[in-house]
Parts: sequence; C-alpha cells; structure tokens
Amino acid sequence: MTATHAGRPVYLDNAATTAVDPRVAAVMAAYLTEEGVYGNPSSTAHAFGREAARCIEVARAEVAALMSAEPGEIVFTSGATEASNLAILGTARANADRRRHLVTARTEHRATLDPMRRLEKEGFAVTWLTPDREGRLDARDVRAALRPDTLLVSIMHVNNETGVVQDVAAIGAVCRAAGVLFHCDLAQGVGKLPTAFAGLIDFGSFTAHKFHGPKGIGALYVAAAARPWLAPIMFGGGQERGLRSGTLATHQIAGFGRACALVRVEAGSDAVRMEALRAALWRSLADLPDVHLNSPLEGGSPAILNVSFEGVEGESLVSALPEIAISTGSACSSATAEPSYVLRALGRSAELAQSSLRFSLGRFTSETDIARAGEAVKHAVTRLRSVAP
Ligand SMILES: *Cc1c(COP(=O)(O)O)cnc(C)c1O
Repeated sequence: MTATHAGRPVYLDNAATTAVDPRVAAVMAAYLTEEGVYGNPSSTAHAFGREAARCIEVARAEVAALMSAEPGEIVFTSGATEASNLAILGTARANADRRRHLVTARTEHRATLDPMRRLEKEGFAVTWLTPDREGRLDARDVRAALRPDTLLVSIMHVNNETGVVQDVAAIGAVCRAAGVLFHCDLAQGVGKLPTAFAGLIDFGSFTAHKFHGPKGIGALYVAAAARPWLAPIMFGGGQERGLRSGTLATHQIAGFGRACALVRVEAGSDAVRMEALRAALWRSLADLPDVHLNSPLEGGSPAILNVSFEGVEGESLVSALPEIAISTGSACSSATAEPSYVLRALGRSAELAQSSLRFSLGRFTSETDIARAGEAVKHAVTRLRSVAP
C-alpha cells in the first residue's frame, strides 16, 4: 500500500515542520487576491501599496521580536540559504582588501559550507572546525582558530541532522572579544529553543517553513553595528535598504510574521510536547538491538531524533516505510548516495552513517503518529535484517 492509498502518511521528515499552520495560511490569503491587499509594497503612492508596506513592517517587528532585535535590523530574503549567502559572501567580498580568513565547522548546513567553498576558490582562507563526538564545538577551539585577518565566524545554532545545540553565547563572546564578526544559522532553532541572540551575534539566518510558515521566505538579522561590514550580493531596485533588491513578497512576509507571532506565544508548550514525544519514540526504537543514538537525549533540539540501525541501509529503510514520510538526514544532500557528512564528522563509520534515519517533529506531531512510526520502523528493521545476507 502506498502512502497516498493509506491516507495521510505520518510526517516525520522536514514536512513535519513545513506544514503551514492554518492560522498562517489564513493571513497569507488576504494578501493575494483582488478582494485582498495585493499592492506592491514599494508603490507607496497608492493606498494599496501603503497597506502592503504596513503589513510588511508589522511582520518585520514580529521577526525582530524573536531575536530581541530592532525591526530595522531585519532584511527579508527567500530563506536561510539566501540569508547565509548574503552574510558570508556579502561580508567577505566587502572586506577582501582587509581580512581574508573565515572560520566555520564541517557540520554546518550546505547553505554555509558551499559559500565558504566558493570563497576558498576566490582566494579566501577558511578554517574548518571538527566538533567532538557529541557534535559540540568548544568556544576555545573557535578562539584558537582566529587570526589577525579573521573576518567572520559562521557556526549554526541547532544542527539540522542531529539536533545538537551549540553554545551561541560563548562563541559570540569569543568573537566579540576578538573583534570578529559572528554569523549564526538559526533556521533549526526558531520555534524549538529560545533565540533572543541580539547583542551576541552579528548576523542570523531564518527560514519560515521550519516553524510552520510558508516556504520561500526568510530573513537575515543584521545587527546595526555590523551593517557597515556588509555589502549586497544582489542588485536592482534597492529594497531592504539596499541589502536585498527585489519586490517584497507581501503574502509570504505576512505569513512569516504570523508564524513568528505564534512561535512567541506557543513555542514553549510546543517544545515540551515535542520533547515528550521524542523521548517516547526513542524508548520505542531502543527495544531493537544494535541501534545507535546520534542525537543528544538531553539539551538537544526537541524536534530531532537521529538514529542509526546497524546492518540496515537508511535508504532501504525509507523505501520499506511508505506510510511514514521520513528521511535519512539532510534532505538537501540525500539526492546523493553519500553517507551523511555530519555523522562522518562526528566520527561515525561510513556504514553507521549510511544506516541512519532522522525523525523530525513539529507542532502537529501526535502521540498516534509516534506510536505508529515506532512500530513500523521496528517491524521494517527486523524484516530487513532477517533478509540481509
Ligand atoms: C533548512 C535549513 C536551511 C535552508 O533553508 P532554506 O529555506 O532552504 O533556504 C539552512 N540551514 C539550516 C540549518 C536548515 O535547517
């Protein structure tokens, strides 16, 4: 039976968090149709345009509130990928005559790794830090990597494959003391953990669909003091104070703002519920012999559980579970058959890295979902192991 015939699959991949909250969708619809507010927010000569511009400023304040930042420090982008590209490429190219060294970790998202690799090709030097076996970076290792010509450190808040949380405050303090810029990818933190990092970081990347907002919209937090270090990477109409040209997507931004407002009110209770469900899922899977936990049981993201099942290919397991929407790790790199580079950087063998599943939980994940998934995975692992050569 395929997922579609079985009715709604249990969403435990990224889709667990990318289902748009109906309260968000309702706000978005009001900015699309002829009955709604569809004016161009840059066309402030019309009442319609002014109404759209007002909606964008309301949303900007909602995003800023998640950071305890000022609305003027938020630059709307198409998501965290663009936000991280802007922070990394935008600071490097603007300061290439002065500072040509950057620091990041091997376990970052591709949206950070690939701009860094691009900069290496352009003649910048990048130091690639390796975390400990639990996936954590020591702020002292960040300090040890700094050079007189270091421009930027880019370290994520919460890892998207394992849920490991980095000490943003400690790393921020190291950067501040050394006069080095600090970019933090906040995509996986928002909605799961507190992210009031204003004053601790210089740049922060957001994407709305990781917390029940729409896909294709996000933001870069640019601390007012860091603004002079940043140059745009896109050119055109000069929107977003010149940092991101292009017509603003009013309906997307309205939905993003509403999703942020819901996070402000509900993230605390969402996190408590997800934490309990995640623990229940792990208790269920730990019944199986030879399973390895790749996520911290305490202190990690309540929304991510990464587990390796010895002797079973992750991809085979995904295929054996049509009623569960689940992935083997990062959706962005699972098109390739390579074992997860994140798990490899934590010292897992290629074999164990290739036999992993990443369970993602969201606001709408239920106890029934978790119970069904636990049973289905145990059944599939047992069956696949029994037919393995
Ligand atoms: C999803 C994600 C991104 C990319 O977000 P987009 O919406 O695809 O731009 C970046 N970093 C992390 C940690 C993510 O989880």
